[in-house]
Amino acid sequence: MISLPFGPLPAHTPRRFVPERVDWSEWSGIAPLFDRLETRAAQCQTAPDLERWLLDWSELCAALDEESSRRYIAMTCQTDNAEAEGAYLHFVEQIEPQLKPRQFTLEQIYLQHPFRTRLLESGARTSPSPETRPAAAGDVPRRYDVFDRNTRVRVELYRDENVPLETEEAKLSQQYQKLSGSLTVQFRGEEKTLVQMARHLEEPDRALRREAWELVAGRRLQEAGKFDAMFDALAHLREQIAKNAGFANYRDYAFRARCRFDYTQEDCLRFHAAIEREVMPALRELQMERRRQLQLDTLRPWDLAVDPLNRPPLRPFEKTDQLAACSQVIFDKLDPQLGANFALLRSRKLLDLDNRKGKAPGGYQSTLAEARLPFIFMNAIGVQRDVETILHEAGHAFHALAARDEDLYAYRHAPIEFCEVASMSMELLGNEFIEPFYPPAEARRARRDHLEGIVEVLPWIATVDAFQHWIYTHPGHTGADRAAAWLALMDRFGGEVDWTGCESARANLWHRQLHIFLHPFYYVEYGIAQLGALQVWANSKRDKAKALADYKGALALGGSRTLPELFAAAGCRFDFSAQTVKPLMALVCQELAQLN
Ligand SMILES: [Zn+2]
Repeated sequence: MISLPFGPLPAHTPRRFVPERVDWSEWSGIAPLFDRLETRAAQCQTAPDLERWLLDWSELCAALDEESSRRYIAMTCQTDNAEAEGAYLHFVEQIEPQLKPRQFTLEQIYLQHPFRTRLLESGARTSPSPETRPAAAGDVPRRYDVFDRNTRVRVELYRDENVPLETEEAKLSQQYQKLSGSLTVQFRGEEKTLVQMARHLEEPDRALRREAWELVAGRRLQEAGKFDAMFDALAHLREQIAKNAGFANYRDYAFRARCRFDYTQEDCLRFHAAIEREVMPALRELQMERRRQLQLDTLRPWDLAVDPLNRPPLRPFEKTDQLAACSQVIFDKLDPQLGANFALLRSRKLLDLDNRKGKAPGGYQSTLAEARLPFIFMNAIGVQRDVETILHEAGHAFHALAARDEDLYAYRHAPIEFCEVASMSMELLGNEFIEPFYPPAEARRARRDHLEGIVEVLPWIATVDAFQHWIYTHPGHTGADRAAAWLALMDRFGGEVDWTGCESARANLWHRQLHIFLHPFYYVEYGIAQLGALQVWANSKRDKAKALADYKGALALGGSRTLPELFAAAGCRFDFSAQTVKPLMALVCQELAQLN
């Protein structure tokens, strides 16, 4: 028996095109809906006809998306239920591969449709705010511009000969995950996964931390040759994919494939330079303070996760009921509408927060695309990280609710660079009201930890991104060239850590970063979004009501606007140069000093 944490959730808008009952497990039940859309497209005689057709297609996409989400949620909430797992895998393996070519055909039909130009011209925006117009002179923003632009890229990049290469890429990615996940070490007579070993890096006993760190690093180094060979094969495949699609290198292909219309390769290089100039001094300062507090001569790789004052971990709550109730107090204080949104999630049982046997690890927010309601999944165990996670995922959930009344499926979600502004802003804004969880001194410590995490992660984002820029603009490089390029980045962004005697581990540290293997170039988004979130937070310090109103207004635009427009609506600059980074880092440092 497959069950879901929530009860029945009716569709936000009654179905007009998709029949009430469809057997989503059988392709023979789904295919006729695509057939009908193909036939209907030919019958569209006006721009409004074509618009109606887009909305019907949208309805089908939402129904399919919700079916997939429901199966995923059911599986992750009960990994020990074979039926739930089977239902999800059936959908992924039997249904989704059949969907792809059919969706692609509809995209082509749309682009070639005789009434497409008419639709683009006729489609004025419903609720544009004048200050969110794009910068380009003479550009009149229109309702379907963003949709049209994204659809064009998908069709433009499609190559038959890349399909088997992408399958090969997916297989190699799976091998990476399998190898990483299989690694274990013997620690104090017990076999431990590398994930389980991470908590020993928080132990006050330095010798124990070192032992744990060296075991893990040593285990990874045993496989270094395999990781390198796997990556060589992946990089080679990606170069070929780019070439087939007519690009000089994979970097340029990846930028296009990720619909990066609003920033360039050079903007990313400027972002790296800005991090180096404006964030590295703050990181070095934090590292020196940590070294002093730990009373060490040098900071070693195993000294970075322990509390520098040897305090026991923060304990914000015992039970997840408290987690939900205290979070509710925070959102109520922040903004009545956000408070009401969170109350809705609680009353509809759209939260599954407990860590319990049979639940998949991690946390995520998923949107039920037809009910247009968000669901939050977590494994809370009573640590500060859980508080940050619920604030983060609630930000994503607020985004989904804000865009609820948008009828075009593609516009109900924003690009990832802005989705993470929604969630990361909520971490920063929520942390200002974290007292329901802590007495005042501990609340300050929690805020400090969070801000320190931001200072630490930005240089790592720059490292991972810059490394990939190097890799994909140096085709045919050797393993030695690549290691040298990585080490040069570690010199730029590593700070004051003493790696003497651990040189090989340092040179191969990138093997741990899954994105480099699985999701090339997908990492800088978090840096871009963090800069947006810091701006929302900075705005809230000047005028909380306005900052929140802008934040909510931008969320409500969903994915209907370009990134610069979405950022502008949220009251932020879409710019990642030192000019933007500098004042934000000054604010973070000032805040950190006050929290001491
Ligand atoms: Zn997120």
